[in-house]
Amino acid sequence: MIDCIFCKIVAGSIPATIVGETERSIAFQDVQPRQPVHILVIPRQHHANVAELANNDPEALVDLMQLGSRIASEQTTGHFRFTFNTGELAGQTVFHAHGHITSNQPVNS
Ligand code: 5GP
Ligand code: ZN
Repeated sequence: MIDCIFCKIVAGSIPATIVGETERSIAFQDVQPRQPVHILVIPRQHHANVAELANNDPEALVDLMQLGSRIASEQTTGHFRFTFNTGELAGQTVFHAHGHITSNQPVNS
């Protein structure tokens, strides 16, 4: 998608601090972290939100959840949230599916 900021991160045309990746998904630091750990996990392919991802490519959603869980186990003590804002009125601002991993329990605290 031409004007999608997360597609640009996937393409490498805008920078991000990547913390993990698979063939289907990438994980990177949120540019405006709201917790000591704040990672975004996205599918490489564009889907507008997690519901569309679940319906259109369930295997990619499983891959995303597995990558997110691995990053959470590396960066937190095992206490974290994995959330998907879905729809503008629920706080979604970037319309490329993404999960937020947030935690106030970084692994080295
Ligand atoms: P949403 O509000 O859609 O659930 O979450 C979008 C998230 O993307 C926000 O937490 C915001 O800080 C993050 N974000 C927006 N633009 C960029 C960017 O260019 N790079 C990175 N790393 N994060 C971004
Ligand atoms: Zn996109």
